[in-house]
Amino acid sequence: MRDPFLRRRPVPFPDESIRGYIVRLAHLNRTSPRNIYQKSSLLTGTVPRSLLMITDKVPLSKLQDLTLIEESKLYDLSFYSLAGKYRDKREDLKILRRISAKGFCSVFFSQVCPICLSEKDFHRKLWELRMITTCHLHKCRLVSTCPQCGKILSPYRRFVTYCDCGFDLRKCSAKYVNSSDILLPTYINEKYFTGIKTIHLTEEFQQLSFRHFLYLHIFLYEYIFKCEFSQSDLQYSASFKPEIMHQVSLKTFEIFIGWPKSFYEFIETYRITPKNSSSGITKEFGRFHYQLIEKLSLEEFSFVLNTFVQYCGDIPSDPILKQVKKQLSDFLTRKRRKMIFPFKKIILYALKVQLKSLELMLG
Ligand SMILES: [Zn+2]
Ligand SMILES: [Zn+2]
Repeated sequence: MRDPFLRRRPVPFPDESIRGYIVRLAHLNRTSPRNIYQKSSLLTGTVPRSLLMITDKVPLSKLQDLTLIEESKLYDLSFYSLAGKYRDKREDLKILRRISAKGFCSVFFSQVCPICLSEKDFHRKLWELRMITTCHLHKCRLVSTCPQCGKILSPYRRFVTYCDCGFDLRKCSAKYVNSSDILLPTYINEKYFTGIKTIHLTEEFQQLSFRHFLYLHIFLYEYIFKCEFSQSDLQYSASFKPEIMHQVSLKTFEIFIGWPKSFYEFIETYRITPKNSSSGITKEFGRFHYQLIEKLSLEEFSFVLNTFVQYCGDIPSDPILKQVKKQLSDFLTRKRRKMIFPFKKIILYALKVQLKSLELMLG
């Protein structure tokens, strides 16, 4: 039965974000996004639930009843099928939580391309990713702060095209960027949203799923930030300022594009970046190699570790590199052994069973 609460039920655009869709729905029905959240049971207390669905699945059946849009179509407007869907496996959940905790898909953050909004007033799903700082269609920067009130744009504002202070976001002056600055949004949009391919990364990157791509980007992002700003410790709030985010995010993607040479160059820079330690391996590498082992232990990331081992082997006379290489190689050998171990166990078990039955037969 049609719920009389809504008079207009717009069809979502294929590249629209679910949070933006709710704002548009509210606007067309002269109500507030909060009312739609409430009517759809999407509030936790008084706070709207995160509909990005990076680490979870939020029930949308009530929103379906309200909008008469199929539930599966509504899920497509979130990141559920690219991220949240994989939350049941322990290693995947760890990855998704890190993506979420690092704020790369933030509950309280919103950004827009003023030209896209002028062309069609709906909120694009790609803008929900904080690492995306430019519009690949208009070659300009995304706007995350209102030029009139100076506040960060709210994802729950009353109109897609207006800040809550009344400023028309379509009137933001576009800040144009170079072609190289739109490679990251172009790649993500093509690889994970549309399936078209114009940017080619090495095979290892092409194989990465959306969650693994984001995770690796975040991992390297933190180190690039340290290098760029000579920070021995990552200051979370400092690294998330829009301008810094823009520079570091693009620099991180440059490493992906120029792999493996660019990774070598990054390591060179990282080695001379000041650390908390003043001698030994940690003076040059900090905890980088430990972090590589700890944070990138999945098979999908083994190419990163292998490239690092290769780098260390390139200058055999360097004693520090020799030590780092040994530690990493030991880890990789242990990992390979672990992979063989279960098979060994199965064979031993089978032999034991056979022996037992032989004993029984012989009495
Ligand atoms: Zn645009
Ligand atoms: Zn404003």
